Amino acid sequence: MNANERYTRVLDYLSALLPEAKSELNYESDFQLLVAVVLSAQCTDKRVNIITKELFAHYPTAFEMARATEEDIYTLISSCSYPHSKAAHIAAMSKKLVADFNGVVPDNMEQLTTLPGVGRKTANVMLAVAFDKPAMPVDTHVFRVAHRLGLVNKNAKTPEETERQLTRHIPTEKLSKAHHWFLLFGRYTCTARNPKCDGCGLSDICTEKMKPLLQKSVEQA
Ligand code: SF4
Repeated sequence: MNANERYTRVLDYLSALLPEAKSELNYESDFQLLVAVVLSAQCTDKRVNIITKELFAHYPTAFEMARATEEDIYTLISSCSYPHSKAAHIAAMSKKLVADFNGVVPDNMEQLTTLPGVGRKTANVMLAVAFDKPAMPVDTHVFRVAHRLGLVNKNAKTPEETERQLTRHIPTEKLSKAHHWFLLFGRYTCTARNPKCDGCGLSDICTEKMKPLLQKSVEQA
């Protein structure tokens, strides 16, 4: 199976499995999505949704959040992972959004990554989810699924290289959707521990599944 056939097989399977795939974060604006994505680093979407319900009730826009202190924000997000640094980032990010962008979240990588706390992955999520632009944010789930399904080679040791290889093969119009497919497939089926391989329709091309067979043939050789 060549690379094109492999990509076609995976994308066709996941599009049929997850036709309604979308972000599981709750938000009502680009700004709220940005805050939720910052909070979601090393934290579950479920926990983030509990936190943002109250946070956005107090500070729904960049203008309101910019008037809050780090301590105000910390109080409301303390059950999240890394609450001190996330509170500092959200406060600084909101102030910069108001000062430099009139409270509007920019829709390009260059300006997004000028915001405190916004790295390439967060910016890519905004491009893909908020602005429906061709982007492939690579988080832990996307990274794992891409490797297990043999979509990237062994040189893809970083999220950036994994993003580069995936972006090279996936049609532009499918990129943002493919991000959701990989993420949800990794979150619920191809989990880090105890993946649900029995019901997986991609097991015949999965490199993870082949490992024991390869190991066995090496031992028997
Ligand atoms: S067979 Fe298992 S490890 Fe491989 S892609 Fe499917 S769920 Fe993931």
